[in-house]
Amino acid sequence: MNRAGAFLLNLLYPNRCGCCKVRIAWDALLCADCLEKLDALRCTPADWLCCHKGEEFPWAGVFTVFSYESAARDGILAMKDGAQNFGRYAGSALAEQVRAAVPPAEIDCVTWVPVSAVRRHRQGYAHAELLGKSLAEALGRPANGRLLKQSDSSLRQHQLSASERAVFGMVFRRTNADLSGQTVLLTDDVLTTGSTMRRCTELLLEMGAARVFAAAAACRLRRPREVQPENEEN
Ligand SMILES: [Zn+2]
Repeated sequence: MNRAGAFLLNLLYPNRCGCCKVRIAWDALLCADCLEKLDALRCTPADWLCCHKGEEFPWAGVFTVFSYESAARDGILAMKDGAQNFGRYAGSALAEQVRAAVPPAEIDCVTWVPVSAVRRHRQGYAHAELLGKSLAEALGRPANGRLLKQSDSSLRQHQLSASERAVFGMVFRRTNADLSGQTVLLTDDVLTTGSTMRRCTELLLEMGAARVFAAAAACRLRRPREVQPENEEN
């Protein structure tokens, strides 16, 4: 949509902060208050890896920009409710970090952790897809959401313990896409134990990918054993 269209649409549907949902200027993504909070939540992959010392991950590198709390948590929850502004903001923040580590031209495609058909139908969209597409656009690389699938399951990840999540991750399926020699950037909303991203990375590597990089908007900076059962997925 062009800027004039967005301005007119805002008269009908006021633009709201991607985190706290207050009304904001038609061309803004977040309110000043949430921007300040997010600045304070900035973190690096090293902060997350520090909580996972001694663990091996199959990806070539991992990216994450916010600690999953306060405004970052609000933004991700709002994204799950269908609001798009936080996804756009986080997508461009992630793109900056990716660009500093990997020349975008080396990334063949951006994909995301899939959701089941039932859940997608219920929500009408997938929040990891929104983030993945924002990241792909910010990097100027193709987005491809047809690489992995998730089978439907009656279990939601937040109902599972950390160790059960590793098993739950098995419901992801690869497709027949040939990724021979490709570099794939895999995205998700939150990096917690890493089990979801690990499983999806393994599948992409099985499909021939030469390298997979993992990128999550936010991460939990606590050890997996400290994660409370009511916490979010991934
Ligand atoms: Zn706000």
